[in-house]
Amino acid sequence: MSFMGKVVSAYGNMVTASFEGSVRQNELAYIHAADGGKLKSEVIRIRGNLCNIQVFELTHGIKVDDSVEFTGDLLVVELGPGLLQQVYDGLQNPLPKLAQAAGLFLKRGVYMDPLDRSLKWDFTPTAKVGSAVEAGDILGWVPEGKFEHQIFVPFSFIGRARITKVAGKGRYTVVDTVAEVEDESGKIHALTMLQQWPIKIPLRNYEERLLPIEPLVTGCRIIDSFFPVAKGGTACIPGPFGSGKTVLQQLISRYANADIIIVAACGERAGEVVETLREFPHLEDPYTGKTLMERTVIICNTSSMPVAAREASIYTAVTIGEYYRQMGLEVLLLADSTSRWAQALREMSGRLEEIPGEEAFPAYLQSRIAEFYERAGAVRLKNGKVGGVSIIGTVSPAGGNFEEPVTQGTLAVVGAFLGLTWARSNARRFPAIDPLMSWSKYLDQMKEKLDQIDPEWVRMIKEHQKLIFSGDEVKKRMDVVGEEGTSLADFITYLKAELLDAVYLQQNAFDNVDAYNTIERQVYSFRKLALILGKDIVAKDKDDARCTFFGLTSLLKNWNSSAWQSEDWNRYEAQINDFLKG
Ligand code: ADP
Ligand code: MG
Repeated sequence: MSFMGKVVSAYGNMVTASFEGSVRQNELAYIHAADGGKLKSEVIRIRGNLCNIQVFELTHGIKVDDSVEFTGDLLVVELGPGLLQQVYDGLQNPLPKLAQAAGLFLKRGVYMDPLDRSLKWDFTPTAKVGSAVEAGDILGWVPEGKFEHQIFVPFSFIGRARITKVAGKGRYTVVDTVAEVEDESGKIHALTMLQQWPIKIPLRNYEERLLPIEPLVTGCRIIDSFFPVAKGGTACIPGPFGSGKTVLQQLISRYANADIIIVAACGERAGEVVETLREFPHLEDPYTGKTLMERTVIICNTSSMPVAAREASIYTAVTIGEYYRQMGLEVLLLADSTSRWAQALREMSGRLEEIPGEEAFPAYLQSRIAEFYERAGAVRLKNGKVGGVSIIGTVSPAGGNFEEPVTQGTLAVVGAFLGLTWARSNARRFPAIDPLMSWSKYLDQMKEKLDQIDPEWVRMIKEHQKLIFSGDEVKKRMDVVGEEGTSLADFITYLKAELLDAVYLQQNAFDNVDAYNTIERQVYSFRKLALILGKDIVAKDKDDARCTFFGLTSLLKNWNSSAWQSEDWNRYEAQINDFLKG
């Protein structure tokens, strides 16, 4: 179905080509460069018989009159068993394999199969010959790690069909035929375990979208207790450079109670990404004891890779997420950072000479951000199962200015806002999520579920949010009038808020026990802390009060780093109980 056009002009990674015939928006094209390379590109604008193409590769050596191949297809991802444990670039090239084949300095125009064609999978058929099927119906399954990877009638299959053949239980590659179906016109289609789906079109093969009401437990106290995220929900983590976004994302990717984690490392410096890649395979899954990679897919585009592939990478990531959601699994997509993705949009928009919006971002920035986050969601599938994609994206505004368009555009569409500040990271109050500025609409939305864990939970959390604000007010006043001008009662309020911050909101990422708290542990320890904070603290003077709180802080920190219900845990708890009795 492909046909040829010609390069008319080139500007950075944007090429203008002439064509005869019809070309569609977002169509995949290849530029045939003089060195024999075929450079993957995407049609981004059509004007008469000219179109603009963004090239996903370095564009040196492209000349006027070079031929352009229009494929007629949209940019797609390959879906099938074998996605887990992979490290892909934004166009789904398997990076480790590419490096093996082409050396460490990746050659442009080298593409490899995203899914291994030679690997055999243990297929168990579940569909029966003679039954009627349509897109998204299940043909059988193969084990992939700890999951039953469902094999579907391709989501792009149009109309109804009847199964005429199903492969027996056995070992097959992703390109072997596992079923044959006859469509309504009598045409036979051979189906494999492999299918393709265009990355920019949401996969909508479900019965209905559900209101996200199940907590996604990240293990991070300030998030789960104060600013929770729902399964199928969205959150953004804006923060200036060095405030701890990447560390926080990595913690979440390690501990969150999702089935599948997709990490989209987008446009960060190569060094940081390499660190992630080096570290990840050695990390242990706290739920299974196996390696974390078994439930992880990494999509990575460093700042040194071409920007257009960066633009594609988050769509590639979310499409893979939607695919696993179709199996009734909970998927968590972590995108770090969406600002780099937005910069890719800005660059292309500039080359297209579109009328710029705020800070030279395209006017459609907000709607692109919204479209991306809308791909998150909890859904009820046609077979009654429930699955979901949650998205947590970081934003890195220059200078930590949250008024800029990407932060504002994101904040308008997400369900939780976890703002990191320099004030907190400089004071080494990690995670540097600022409790005065962050919010989550899921605290109310998930009330029913949270109340099942503890009927008082939501009320209690809200009450303590007020304490944080009261403590901050006293602190601000104290900064002006000094400690002498502050009453003892106000001073104790301030110390209580500080205690809550020090032993609950802050969490030591580098302590094996403290790094991760189950929701049961959070509820238990917060209840205890609430008793302390609710107690009338008797003190002679401010120094006496300070001394009491100093003791409490170290006691509770010791409790935090003791394993759940261990001997140490019991010992510290007994000391806390003594304090409460006294
Ligand atoms: P960003 O991605 O926002 O630029 P990073 O996540 O790379 O920032 O964090 C920068 C540094 O801050 C880290 O190298 C680490 O020293 C420190 N840091 C971040 N989060 C934590 C944490 N939870 N505990 C201790 N130190 C942290
Ligand atoms: Mg970072």
